Amino acid sequence: MHCLRSNGTERKWFRTREAAEKFAADPKNHPVYLGDVAHVSGKCGFWHLSRPERLFPEWETLEENATVN
Ligand SMILES: [Zn+2]
Repeated sequence: MHCLRSNGTERKWFRTREAAEKFAADPKNHPVYLGDVAHVSGKCGFWHLSRPERLFPEWETLEENATVN
């Protein structure tokens, strides 16, 4: 079970940092993921992409309530 966005769809997830960063760097995935930072989810253990401003210590609980991304 992977993390879900606030609209109920599954979040994009990756097995490695390299895969996540490659996806974020692909022009066809801009502007949604451009500038996003790869990080390991504390919930599912896989890599996700999130806005840098969300990556503070409390992000795990806040990001699931976010309306963007
Ligand atoms: Zn996850």
